[in-house]
Amino acid sequence: MNFIERPSPNFNARATDVRHAVVHYTGMQSRDEALQRLCDPEAKVSAHYLIDQEGAAFRLIAEEQRAWHAGVSYWRGVRDINSTSIGIELCNPGHDGGYRPFPSAQMTTLKELLSGIFARHGLSSDALLAHSDIAPSRKLDPGELFPWRDFAKSGFGLWPADAVPVAGHADLTGALRRLSEIGYAVPTTPEEGSDILNANCAATDVIKAFQRRYLPDQIDGRLDNLTAARISAVAVAYALHRPTA
Ligand SMILES: [Zn+2]
Repeated sequence: MNFIERPSPNFNARATDVRHAVVHYTGMQSRDEALQRLCDPEAKVSAHYLIDQEGAAFRLIAEEQRAWHAGVSYWRGVRDINSTSIGIELCNPGHDGGYRPFPSAQMTTLKELLSGIFARHGLSSDALLAHSDIAPSRKLDPGELFPWRDFAKSGFGLWPADAVPVAGHADLTGALRRLSEIGYAVPTTPEEGSDILNANCAATDVIKAFQRRYLPDQIDGRLDNLTAARISAVAVAYALHRPTA
């Protein structure tokens, strides 16, 4: 695979081995503007790779190093996601700047890149994460236009069997437990936590992040029967994938 080398100074040493790949969008109008920011020592942000809309791949940071793309984040007990992940930026203006579908050339390059990353680091298909998965109250990227289902078919990410909504299924405590089993940070339940309002707000954010990936036609943060059934189905897919967990 061909890379255009564009070294960024924004990295340090990893604390752990690579376990995840995190997909982002740049949220900027142009590729060059995004590259400039990711290489600016003042900005203190970076990613290992950037793929533009034409499918050209730029390498900014060596995979052995820790890039700075995740920010305050969490997945399955891990908080230092920068240490455990490879960060990949996709050029797209994002929800605030004219969010648009990801071109097929860009997606083809991403699949090729992920194939190499997953092979080099021995990652399994549950290792692909959205920035919104690991920071649901702060981030929307890469968002509901990212072809999650198609990538899962290629072995990047998990996709559940279609779930049938079940009456009486939508209990918040059970749904939050299943989201936590998948890997999401979930608020303490009202019984456990003192701040019920904050707990409810954060639960809405987590449900929206889940919907953005697994129910992209319904991103309202509501735990209706369809969303609850989908959460159960995805939790089963992850449990089946991690038989010893
Ligand atoms: Zn991001």
